[in-house]
Amino acid sequence: MSLYGKPIQDLKGVGEKRARLFQKLGVFSVGALLRFYPRAYEDLSRPLSIREACPGEVSAVRATVLQRPAETRIRGGMTLYKCTITDGESDLFLTFFNNPYIKNLLKAGEEYIFYGKVTASFLKKEMASPEFFPAADCPAIRPVYRQTEGLSSRLIQNAVKNALLLLPSEIKDPLPEPLRTRYGLCSLRTALEEIHFPPSQGALLRARKRLVFEELFVLQLGLLKMKGRARCESSLRFTQNFTPDFYRLLPFQPTGAQQRAVGEAMMDLQSGRPMNRLVQGDVGSGKTAVAAALCYNAACNGFQSALMAPTELLARQHYQTLASMMGADIQVALLTSSTPAAEKKEILQALAQGGISLLVGTHALLSEQVAFHRLALVITDEQHRFGVEQRAALAAKGDNPHLLVMSATPIPRTLALMIYGDLDLSILDELPPGRQKIETYAITSEKRLRALGYLQKHIDRGLQGYIICPMIDNAGEDGAAGDRKSVLDYAQRLRKLMPTARIGHLHGRMKPKEKDAVMDEFAAGRLDVLVSTTVVEVGVDVPNAVIMMIENAERYGLSQLHQLRGRVGRGTEKSTCILVSDAQNQEAVTRLQTMCRTSNGFEIADEDLKLRGPGDFFGSRQHGLPELKIANMMENMEALKQAQQAAQELLRTDPGLEEKAHAGLRAEVARLFTAMNGN
Ligand code: ADP
Ligand code: MG
Repeated sequence: MSLYGKPIQDLKGVGEKRARLFQKLGVFSVGALLRFYPRAYEDLSRPLSIREACPGEVSAVRATVLQRPAETRIRGGMTLYKCTITDGESDLFLTFFNNPYIKNLLKAGEEYIFYGKVTASFLKKEMASPEFFPAADCPAIRPVYRQTEGLSSRLIQNAVKNALLLLPSEIKDPLPEPLRTRYGLCSLRTALEEIHFPPSQGALLRARKRLVFEELFVLQLGLLKMKGRARCESSLRFTQNFTPDFYRLLPFQPTGAQQRAVGEAMMDLQSGRPMNRLVQGDVGSGKTAVAAALCYNAACNGFQSALMAPTELLARQHYQTLASMMGADIQVALLTSSTPAAEKKEILQALAQGGISLLVGTHALLSEQVAFHRLALVITDEQHRFGVEQRAALAAKGDNPHLLVMSATPIPRTLALMIYGDLDLSILDELPPGRQKIETYAITSEKRLRALGYLQKHIDRGLQGYIICPMIDNAGEDGAAGDRKSVLDYAQRLRKLMPTARIGHLHGRMKPKEKDAVMDEFAAGRLDVLVSTTVVEVGVDVPNAVIMMIENAERYGLSQLHQLRGRVGRGTEKSTCILVSDAQNQEAVTRLQTMCRTSNGFEIADEDLKLRGPGDFFGSRQHGLPELKIANMMENMEALKQAQQAAQELLRTDPGLEEKAHAGLRAEVARLFTAMNGN
């Protein structure tokens, strides 16, 4: 659809100002507007009688106007228009504010459908500023769009109407005809017309079915195409297996699960085809050692590897861990946005000449200047923080290198296989030995002092702890922190309360250098307590820290609480997690109870899914997948299965989507996967 090339201003009624508002909604072209699907619908097809309309509910009512709206001036120069409508059985009072046209729009004796919220006072029912349509030509179902200030749903609706008029009569459908027939899908034109202006509920379902399928199909095509690399040859074959040598360097015995994951990955690396593997393991299951084993093998086979982490803190920590695990013979370097220019220059030079075997870093690795000599292995940690695109961008620095992604967001296996259609899966389902269950308690703020006393006792024994606060300082964005604790304030109070304890603080507004310094102090045991925002959430590993106290625990989702808790319980000392919350609402209470009951990441992910609902789970881009406009992977499981199957079949006959009939699909795939980079 070349309408994607047509700017939104080209539409009748859309000037520069409105165009900017549309852009705010992410709609830049006429084509994009057609794909800006309604967020909800108003059903006007079955209007109620006035008696049936319930106060407090938004309803459609069919009634006749009794008299022309009467005008009253009220305070502040406002004008009120009132009239009464009736359905012969009961009456309803309407009010409109400052809308002089009402007098001419509503005609006495005529029948209309009124749509709005019904309120009831002592004796009468009312509707304030309802929408209305002549009963004789009222649409059955009306679209409701996500709006923005100055751009109402109604304005968007008009723009969409005009956009639909521009659809060429012979619109090219990206879904090939045989596929549509096989899965019973309507044409693109019908789908677009009916998703915006459905003549009936049935038509709406039909349109939705087609668009959901299309979206999932395009997603699967994109993912499988990346995996399609798997069939091609790789010149980066690991000829020798140095894993036993690496294990001898480790200060511990690898777990069975770690050995299995390394083994599976080594099979890929030695196969002569590119690896695409996801390692999923609960927090603390030892994913870093798995990555290290593979980087070690790469180096010994004469290749380079890159490991990308989502935060500076984590990148640094990985750098230290990996460098020490792999011994002095293997050159490891760290590159982040705060690496000094001179050092950076040196690193880049050594990298290009092959002097560095493993480069660890943040997004900085994606920068154009970063060029490898012989990049064979690309690893991304905490995969859910990265997009598929970023993974691909790093991979593009090598000649089809092997890919390993590591994720601590466990999701059910079948689901993982479907949504990460492009990846093979290894699971670390075993924790290193000697780990004790992290005791978890939920307490109210009344017991805070006792909890801090408990922390002090551990400090006296040479152990350490974290305290997490949701805010940085007390002047919250809206100036009202309410009862939310802030890092700066808390640390200050704590220093008074526990004068002998060495207390540090950490938050996202500190400079990377300052953050590193604090983290180093804490890791070296020169700080007893770290008061921090959730910047420590991901990956941080200080085995001597055994207390995790989370203030305002009700403010975090289950997965996040689980990640935070995963910062302790990393050594052999017994660890404790204390959730402080005064929240009363049922959902928060359930969440905290779940945390106290289980420490199994897979179980918690399931529960999280149940509590938050799939929309939130996938909507928040936790999985690094493109944002979907209409499909929902949990609710449309059946369609997802069909789409995956159909995508596999299509790629079998046309792996590069190069046939003429598939040009539209190829464009859609590109669009879906680039859109996620654009914002
Ligand atoms: P995660 O999977 O959360 O990334 P890490 O790789 O950070 O976990 O490992 C957690 C901790 O467990 C680290 O301190 C690491 O040294 C330790 N560890 C990893 N594997 C083993 C093992 N097999 N035996 C003992 N300790 C281990
Ligand atoms: Mg980790």
